[in-house]
Amino acid sequence: MEKERSLSSFMQMRDSLGVWKLLFRRPLLAWEEDEVSRLQVLIRDALGLNMGLKDFIRWNASLDGQFTVAGIREWYESNQGPRLQVPRLIWKGVAPPKPQFLSWLAWRGRVKTIGMLKRFRAVSSSVENLCPFCKLEEESVDHILLQCSMVWKVWSSLLNWWGLSWVTPATVDGVLLWWLGTQFKKTVKKIWRLVPVAMLWLAWRLRNDCVFHERQPNLEKLGEIIKVRIGLWVKSGLPAIPYSVHDFVENLNQLLDWTLSNLGQCVGI
Ligand SMILES: [Zn+2]
Repeated sequence: MEKERSLSSFMQMRDSLGVWKLLFRRPLLAWEEDEVSRLQVLIRDALGLNMGLKDFIRWNASLDGQFTVAGIREWYESNQGPRLQVPRLIWKGVAPPKPQFLSWLAWRGRVKTIGMLKRFRAVSSSVENLCPFCKLEEESVDHILLQCSMVWKVWSSLLNWWGLSWVTPATVDGVLLWWLGTQFKKTVKKIWRLVPVAMLWLAWRLRNDCVFHERQPNLEKLGEIIKVRIGLWVKSGLPAIPYSVHDFVENLNQLLDWTLSNLGQCVGI
């Protein structure tokens, strides 16, 4: 509530243990209380507070303490380099907007699992949040979309479809970074980048069917559904590629060879 108060007056109002007195407009949720506790530790351990100096803002990512957009971009690239490409992978393809949006939420860890809804008190804490696929572990974004052994098999079957194998990324973020690091030429890359978007979208849809409509999960069928869906997206979004959906599902590797040797010349891969 006291956004305009100076640092020194907050310092003077600390209690004997050094805890800052912070006022909020409304009662905090449990997870917000945790954040405030973390903030208190951060403030308590902060160095260099000098009661004799006037408050000023300093941007520590640049040497002169001044904030610039170019400066933050430079800092972000040096710290997060490859991650800057993930939104491009998600948003630049020919997948429809809803799957793209879900993939973006999954990458940001913002998909509304029961665990997250409990955290925001949108559902009661007594609601069970076991993974509806394996029914062994609590569902989290990374579990439901990647780590669950049943979901993992689907990812692996998609990699087999492309004639590839991989080491296990532990998070959705890790998968998307791995995906970016696997290079194909231009046209093939457009198809390749549809795979994680389709996988995340359809795994999430299946999860919702199980949770809200009490369907039994059929993850073997899911792999085939994903391949068909990618074929449909390619047909509608990349019409220069002359294959049927059935060709995509059954003969992907032959098609990719043909695409590279023929289509490449006319579309400039
Ligand atoms: Zn599971």
